[in-house]
Amino acid sequence: MSGAGRRYLCFKFLIRFHPTGAVFALAQVGDDVRALVTRWPKGFFLQPSGRTARSAAHRHASQAFDSSLWPCMDKIGGRVSRAGLRMNTWLTQYFRCPERYIRVASKGPLSAKSGYFQFGNETTCYGSYYGRQVAESATGELHDAFCDVEIRNGTMYLPFDPSQVVDNLLRERYVDEWRSGTFLSALAKGYYRLRPVLSAGIRRLVQKLYLTGWDKLPFPRWPVDCSVDNLLGQLLLLSLGSNCVKRIPFIWFWPEGASSCAIMTHDVETEPGRDFCPTLMDIDDSYGIKASFEIIPEQRYGVSRDFLGSIRERGFEVVVHDLNHDGHLYRNREQFLERAAKINSYGKEYGAEGFRAAVLYRKQLWYDALSFSYDMSVPNVAHLDPQRGGCCTVMPYFLGEILELPVTTAQDYTLFNILNDYSIGLWRRQIDLIMEKHGLISFIVHPDYIVRPRERAIYERLLGFLTRLRVEKGVWITTPSGVNRWWRQRAEMRLVENGEAWRIEGPGKERARIAYASEKEGRLVFSLPGMAEQESFLPT
Ligand SMILES: [Zn+2]
Repeated sequence: MSGAGRRYLCFKFLIRFHPTGAVFALAQVGDDVRALVTRWPKGFFLQPSGRTARSAAHRHASQAFDSSLWPCMDKIGGRVSRAGLRMNTWLTQYFRCPERYIRVASKGPLSAKSGYFQFGNETTCYGSYYGRQVAESATGELHDAFCDVEIRNGTMYLPFDPSQVVDNLLRERYVDEWRSGTFLSALAKGYYRLRPVLSAGIRRLVQKLYLTGWDKLPFPRWPVDCSVDNLLGQLLLLSLGSNCVKRIPFIWFWPEGASSCAIMTHDVETEPGRDFCPTLMDIDDSYGIKASFEIIPEQRYGVSRDFLGSIRERGFEVVVHDLNHDGHLYRNREQFLERAAKINSYGKEYGAEGFRAAVLYRKQLWYDALSFSYDMSVPNVAHLDPQRGGCCTVMPYFLGEILELPVTTAQDYTLFNILNDYSIGLWRRQIDLIMEKHGLISFIVHPDYIVRPRERAIYERLLGFLTRLRVEKGVWITTPSGVNRWWRQRAEMRLVENGEAWRIEGPGKERARIAYASEKEGRLVFSLPGMAEQESFLPT
């Protein structure tokens, strides 16, 4: 067959028509994209050369078709494979940057078995790998995947699939099935049966026994793990180089250019805790902070309409907290589904958009049975919680339809009763680490545990510190549903090229800001026009 004949066949394969009137045609020479003809509703463009054609194809296709052109890029044998385009999903979702800047492909077939490796010093990854066996445990020295990255023709070739790694961390797939077959799992089961009749002293003793060695666990990193944030940041940094551009635009994480975001949540565990809620609202209000109250619908205390109304009328939020807080929500699928149906109907009755399970128990695979807009049951690092693991990010993320707002700081119970720490030192350390990533600072403080003056004073010190951050560092303090609304809007917004500049489109764009990622001395830095340069995103 002649060269011209081959070219004709390729054209035939790749023409795409769209209801808007746009037409795409891609041609191939050898194994690469060599030409793009676009008839746009507003005009006609001819892009004759390989690299320009490819980037124009990415831009136009992402704008017009929402990636529906990508499968044909795969067929053409272009450098960016269909799998590669899935590999960039978390990255473009996280930064809300134009897809055309993120070109990721796999170096080759990945191992069936997953393991641990690192991507730079501060980032632990868990997933399949190309060309070598990776570690079964996160302990000890890990192979650094950074050395295996290749950049060719504007594409990053990685020895792993970043979307798979991010998914594994966010969904805690690296954790063995919880409570299965170990002495500790038997202990946990027995403990939860006996817990109601055990004294506080014995409960603490059992908890300490269970937690022995927590401070030696290398992963997730205590007191905050930012593996997901670091991995995605490193890939954006590499994308600057692979695209030969000085900066990549993206939609800033928070509205009005806020540097980070903070939320306060109150899980109401007992009747005395419920009765303390009006006082707690007074305390929060005196610092100008609105919080959410997580209410247990059954067995713990009476939940009257007046009580729920008193929370909402003051601008605070109601969230459903488990069903009866007995520690058995996820015990088996059948029981879970029964309970989820009840929990969902309480959600409707309470007008609650959010859910949190008891004791941060979670089984993220089952979340599709929960009819809530957001969940707050996944800790960032769970060394001091009964269910180990952690999602390794400080940003909200979607689990199907549900938005997860991770718990990114230590709970008050942990601080006072396990660490015996009556200061805000640990919280401040965690806040610093989260703010380096411009993340979500989220707290669980129980009304039940701050009734006494000593604990209440610590809590007020924290509120005082947060209000200083609001004034001095531009931290946005809002409620969980405030974050939920914003994050959903941001996820629907997109950046559109406007001549030399960019503009944001989509509902809520008035509050959104365009930011630029660039490289400074080997690190990723962010800037927002009209505002001071943000601190470096990646650790040195
Ligand atoms: Zn609780």
